[in-house]
Amino acid sequence: MNNTLKLLIKLQTIENIIETLTKEKEELPKLLKEIESKLKEENKNLELLIKKEKDTEISRRAKEKYLLELAEKVTDRKSKLFKVKTNEEYSALLKEIENLKKEISETEDEVIKLLYDYEEYKKLIDRKKKEIEELSKILNEKKQEVALKTKEIENKMNELCNDREKLFNQLNESTKIIYLKLKETKKKVVVPAIDKKCMGCFMSIPTQIYIEVKRGESIVNCPQCGRILYWEESGNEGKDND
Ligand SMILES: [Zn+2]
Repeated sequence: MNNTLKLLIKLQTIENIIETLTKEKEELPKLLKEIESKLKEENKNLELLIKKEKDTEISRRAKEKYLLELAEKVTDRKSKLFKVKTNEEYSALLKEIENLKKEISETEDEVIKLLYDYEEYKKLIDRKKKEIEELSKILNEKKQEVALKTKEIENKMNELCNDREKLFNQLNESTKIIYLKLKETKKKVVVPAIDKKCMGCFMSIPTQIYIEVKRGESIVNCPQCGRILYWEESGNEGKDND
């Protein structure tokens, strides 16, 4: 095979790896985003629980205050029982006391329910705090992992860029110009021709040109897109393309 073509294929292989690594590097922060948004959501849930806990306490205090007022009323009505003059007034007072006691009993039940709710919210808050703590720990670990992986990719890419430069410098001047010109508009400059088709633009290649590509003795450009072609065996013969 033509030496320049060999260099060009190697160069393209390195370009392909660099592209894959670039994408891989770009994907890395996405791993954090999911945990970060989950953490944000859980913090919101925690705030909500804390608010509910507080609200429960506020209404319990209000009801306890109200209970005192009711008890005072009962004491007051009871003291009046001995001062009334008519039977009607007496039974009206008794009825009122009875109603007040009923209300006291109902309010006491509500206070108990609120106390119970308060304890439940407390438990939920503790649990949520632990979940958040756990999630933060996972996030930090993941952050370190991502930072490490990023550094690894960067190192690898630096190495590959050096290799790319070395290979590029081995090309003759006219090939360098052609390569750079193609690179301005195309991601892949050197592509295989498989089954008489250019794998860059997927157009058919005329037979005469295809034969030249297959020989690999000279630099042949796709007549359609201008990419540099090299021959590769058909996909049907056990080669898979992605
Ligand atoms: Zn083409």
